[in-house]
Amino acid sequence: MIYLDHAATTALDPQVLAAMLPYFTQHEGNPSSIHQAGRVALQAIDDARSTAALILNCARKEVIFTGSGSEANNLAVKGVAFAQMQQGKGRHIVTSAIEHHAVLHAVEYLDSFGFEHTVLPVDADGLIQPDDLRAALRADTIVVSLMYANNEIGTVQPIAELGAICREHGVPFHTDAVQAAGAYTLDVEALNVDLLTISAHKFYGPKGSGLLYARRGIPFLPQINGGGQERRRRAGTENVPGIVGLGAALALAEERRASYVGHCSTLRDRLIDGLLQRIPGTRLNGHRSLRLPNNANLAFECVEGESVLLLLDQHGICASSGSACTAGSLEPSHVLLALGLSPEIANGAVRFSLGKDTSAAEIDTVLETLPPLIARLQAVAPCEAA
Ligand SMILES: *Cc1c(COP(=O)(O)O)cnc(C)c1O
Repeated sequence: MIYLDHAATTALDPQVLAAMLPYFTQHEGNPSSIHQAGRVALQAIDDARSTAALILNCARKEVIFTGSGSEANNLAVKGVAFAQMQQGKGRHIVTSAIEHHAVLHAVEYLDSFGFEHTVLPVDADGLIQPDDLRAALRADTIVVSLMYANNEIGTVQPIAELGAICREHGVPFHTDAVQAAGAYTLDVEALNVDLLTISAHKFYGPKGSGLLYARRGIPFLPQINGGGQERRRRAGTENVPGIVGLGAALALAEERRASYVGHCSTLRDRLIDGLLQRIPGTRLNGHRSLRLPNNANLAFECVEGESVLLLLDQHGICASSGSACTAGSLEPSHVLLALGLSPEIANGAVRFSLGKDTSAAEIDTVLETLPPLIARLQAVAPCEAA
């Protein structure tokens, strides 16, 4: 099998598993318990917190462990929005057209509580224009959420510049850095961010383990009430193995970052250039250079991305369609439509996302396998390919 869907999830690294295992089977303590077993568990999450704080260049108490990247995104947007409303600061939220649904749907949900939002457009490469952010900010804007790197098209935003604009206006700035983790810096000072989301399973850590960085002093209300865990910002007994796994995976990802970026971007370019050359009429979605090292999103003329995926799957190649739709529905991706693509072109998109263990031989197999499959589909398509 050739797995090229690392943007969806990655395999747990054996080193990460080894770090986690004792916290499943040996150290059963609840970190809130005062006895020795509890202290062992607390020490483990404290160590993971220190690791994360070092990599994010923040204070340990600014780290909140969550149950997923989706939860961290919800917590950031809702936690700040409700706190700001409570303090009478306003109800206007700014986000972009290409956010993950965990941000977009959270923002839309808040409208039903009297909030309102502005959605920033992106250009044809998927970039947010800083001037559009400047123009959208108002006196009653209470939080801005713009993603670091896009999960579908790979475009990377000028986060430090966007963050500086928010800071000038005194508006808390959240970034969804789930796809950026392992590829780019997560230094919250360099990035000018007040809140930042990551998710362990996107960088060879366990599923169901996320993290939200929340800058000290930013208005914030918990969204899960209960015990006093995570400094009263996220109730619930901590997922100790999950947190240990996130810490171990983050440390490994940071250690491997330069070699990962070099390895993936070389293979990504081999894949993109090879497919553009071999399949006439193919379009690269997303920015050519300001893109994740592991992302290749291509639209093929006169084919359905879903059909391409099924044929690839028969050849043991796992990829994903550009659309984030639930299986069965043929709604084109909101991200591809935001680039200005027609629904027909958007439906022809396929995303290949590479990983640390992807090999040149695997890329070459795709380069040999895919062109005849596309030709087969185009031959029976009702439209005219180039
Ligand atoms: C995967 C992903 C998420 C959601 O993270 P989960 O841990 O799977 O909930 C959020 N944002 C982006 C950009 C993602 O790629």
